[in-house]
Amino acid sequence: MQRPNQVELSEDIWAAHCDRVANICQQVINRQPGKLLTIQKNTSSHTVRAVNYKQDCHPIDVSSLNHILKIDREAKTVLVEGQVLLGDLCRATLSVGLLPAVIPEYSDFTVSGLINGEGIQSSSHRYGLFSDTILSQEVILGDGSAIATDSEQHANLFRLLFNSHGTLGDCYCGNDSFN
Ligand SMILES: Cc1cc2nc3c(=O)[nH]c(=O)nc-3n(C[C@H](O)[C@H](O)[C@H](O)COP(=O)(O)OP(=O)(O)OC[C@H]3O[C@@H](n4cnc5c(N)ncnc54)[C@H](O)[C@@H]3O)c2cc1C
Repeated sequence: MQRPNQVELSEDIWAAHCDRVANICQQVINRQPGKLLTIQKNTSSHTVRAVNYKQDCHPIDVSSLNHILKIDREAKTVLVEGQVLLGDLCRATLSVGLLPAVIPEYSDFTVSGLINGEGIQSSSHRYGLFSDTILSQEVILGDGSAIATDSEQHANLFRLLFNSHGTLGDCYCGNDSFN
């Protein structure tokens, strides 16, 4: 698995993250041939779209991806797994005097949900959409491979993931900028 550019992580945190991702890649690889995939998580969903089509899909359990991997106070960035709740993210960053530049309304929105479903809040007049604060994303593709994307590597995919509603892959990690 590729490490995200410009983020230094301790070996044990990176290894534990890789284990969680590998488990999810394996779920994707092990699905029945021809089955569509859908995200299964243990927190609330706030999508207002019809979800009946998901009933026949193969669920991929992403609940384990709920860790904050690194808060970089100097760079004002945080590397988080996709299922981290906004409330938990704010609590963790506030403890070092930072907050996400864009904080959508509910504490149980997830980082992945806000990337894939789009997030906005009053500070967006200055910082743009929640997506505009994301510097890199990691994603698991339909073939079970995990790749890192940013404005240089897999740049088209990086941009297309925003507001893609999970149609391009399972977004499992985001590098977010802070205020
Ligand atoms: C009552 C209410 C109030 C709201 N208020 C605001 C607000 O103040 N500001 C704002 O910006 N938005 C608001 N929203 C919209 C909200 O930001 C989006 O619905 C957001 O996507 C919710 O995040 P979630 O974690 O619940 O994602 P979900 O609802 O679980 O998912 C949203 C979309 O992202 C996809 N997705 C989720 N996780 C992943 C993943 N790991 N990989 C790939 N795809 C994934 C899902 O398939 C789905 O299409 C509100 C919605 C509601 C219902």
